[in-house]
Amino acid sequence: MKIAIIGAGASGLLAGGILSQKHEVVIFDKNEKCGKKLYITGKGRCNLTNNCSKEEFLNNVVSGEKFMFSSINQFPPQEIINFFENLGLKLKTERGGRVFPQSDKSSDVIKCLEKFASKCKICLNEKVKSVSFDKNIFNLKTDKKEYEFDRVIVATGGKSYPLTGSSGDGYSFAKEIGHKIIELKPALVPIELEDDFVKNLQGISLKNVTLKAVADGKKYSLFGEMLFTDKGISGPIALSLSSFINRTHKVELIIDFKPALDEEKLMARIIRDIDENKNKTMQSFMKLYLPRAVGNVFLDKLCISPEQKVNNFTVKKREEFLKLLKHFPLKFKSLYPIESGIITSGGVDLKEINPKTMESKLQKGLYFIGEVLDVDCLTGGYNLTTAFATAFACAHNLI
Ligand SMILES: Cc1cc2nc3c(=O)[nH]c(=O)nc-3n(C[C@H](O)[C@H](O)[C@H](O)COP(=O)(O)OP(=O)(O)OC[C@H]3O[C@@H](n4cnc5c(N)ncnc54)[C@H](O)[C@@H]3O)c2cc1C
Repeated sequence: MKIAIIGAGASGLLAGGILSQKHEVVIFDKNEKCGKKLYITGKGRCNLTNNCSKEEFLNNVVSGEKFMFSSINQFPPQEIINFFENLGLKLKTERGGRVFPQSDKSSDVIKCLEKFASKCKICLNEKVKSVSFDKNIFNLKTDKKEYEFDRVIVATGGKSYPLTGSSGDGYSFAKEIGHKIIELKPALVPIELEDDFVKNLQGISLKNVTLKAVADGKKYSLFGEMLFTDKGISGPIALSLSSFINRTHKVELIIDFKPALDEEKLMARIIRDIDENKNKTMQSFMKLYLPRAVGNVFLDKLCISPEQKVNNFTVKKREEFLKLLKHFPLKFKSLYPIESGIITSGGVDLKEINPKTMESKLQKGLYFIGEVLDVDCLTGGYNLTTAFATAFACAHNLI
């Protein structure tokens, strides 16, 4: 059988490697090299999966959990780890089960997949422009030639970070065939705020805080690390939160700077600290609780001069301070645009895809794998796990 795979990214290379053991496989990529997005994953280290159970994986799927059930059973995280180790790639597991190559080089993951797919014909610098089906054969038009194939696998990725090649072409191919595309939204993306003070906080990171959101009446609460950008917030918990609120309209955001202490305990600590630091300035007092620049924002909000002495910290202002520490409001503006998202939420409607094989229910012989599908997960290696699991399910059922 002659099989075309559109996209030499994570899912395309893995599927190609399996299928080329029995079939004639051609992989097209518009870029000059394979795996351009893989190269920038995990800050250049590639968090290729998570050393977790299937159930834990499914808990980290934001959208498409039921759909992923079958493919993750066919190629669970432990099998993904074994697969790469059997290909000679040494791996290590870090905090939160994140799996990386021991070399800390994403290029080693790419090399490994390229080697696995070495029996495929890989056509680089060749962009697929359309896919159509006529008289039992697929017709593929690229910017160079026209081809005929028995089967076509769309592995074109999402729409974020378009410079890596994933600029949303797969959605057009799907639409041409008649597939419904679930509206595309940015996910794992920074959040833009209206608050003026953020520009003074750029680069400041907060550890062990809780970021809360009330979005269209639903409540979310994430504990961990976040950071301020020039226009808003980013970092693990802000990125994760964005995936939950990207389809909501009214969003309220709150930071709890001291989630380990309830209000009573925190007030007791404030009173003790006031007692021990009576002659200090309010600016240095704030440093007991917050990074300096954030402390300045607090003083501003409390209308307290940085030079004021701690022994003039009134009971009313202490209560306001406590409230700010536990319920610091942020004014939500929007999410950063889809291009800045680590992942695209939305995509080919899962109702129209067979979850065991990734075959289109509308067009026999056409398959969709990886990020082009309406599946998105949290950070931790789960998105590449999705790419590999859907690719494996597709290839093993086609072989
Ligand atoms: C900055 C960043 C960091 C990330 N880090 C991680 C991480 O550490 N762990 C994790 O699990 N996930 C991570 N992700 C997400 C992960 O990279 C993607 O989910 C994954 O690469 C999707 O795989 P894919 O095969 O579907 O698509 P891709 O890997 O994006 O591959 C798609 C390929 O298709 C090609 N293509 C598209 N259209 C055409 C066309 N018309 N003709 C020819 N070729 C075409 C593209 O050039 C591209 O090479 C990260 C994403 C980003 C942006």
